[in-house]
Amino acid sequence: MVREIIIGKEGNQPFQITDARVSRKHAQITIDENGDMMLEDLQSTNGTFILLKNGNYKRITQQKLTKGMTVRFGPELEFKVSDLINRYLSKEGNAPAAAEYDITPLKYLEENYNREKVIVEQKLASNGMFRMAVFSLGGIMATITGFVLTDPRYKIVAPLVTLLVAGLGFLVLIRQSNKLIRRRNMCDSNFKRNFVCPHCHMSFVGKMYANIRLVGKCPNCKSKFSGEF
Ligand SMILES: [Zn+2]
Repeated sequence: MVREIIIGKEGNQPFQITDARVSRKHAQITIDENGDMMLEDLQSTNGTFILLKNGNYKRITQQKLTKGMTVRFGPELEFKVSDLINRYLSKEGNAPAAAEYDITPLKYLEENYNREKVIVEQKLASNGMFRMAVFSLGGIMATITGFVLTDPRYKIVAPLVTLLVAGLGFLVLIRQSNKLIRRRNMCDSNFKRNFVCPHCHMSFVGKMYANIRLVGKCPNCKSKFSGEF
């Protein structure tokens, strides 16, 4: 029987990993029928390493393992291969607990996202109105001052100054609007990244929390969901 041990915050290694610098699925150890072991990095953020005889670490993508070796996941989490394997094998046979996740955080994520979205949209709308106002008022004021003032010097200077001030105001509003658009995009991508199944990471974007919770399990990986309604 071939065994696959996934090391990571969401791996099936025989203990929990909470080190944030270890990826969710960081590395995999495969043990084949003959007991040969292969370590493979699963494109982890902070790398998988083996300890060399000279005391240095070497980052690896794939590496044949022997029980005497020492491996490191990320900057700190280190194991002797024999310990890791023995702990895994001694845990085998214990039926794994059915995966159940409290998905209440998704509820707050959805609430915050909707609230933030409304605020940003409102600000964008009023920014657009201000821009229109500055644009029209600037034009009108420049025309009026040009007509009304009789002194030829002011007749030229006053409309120019008016246009300049209006132009600056317009630029400030454009910058603000760009900032708001960036904020909206960040808000969107943050939501897309996090509004997912806590187990298999399938996206729930387009679904409503209330419905997901009502169904009570992931349509993809069938993990059970608990949490607030
Ligand atoms: Zn799932």
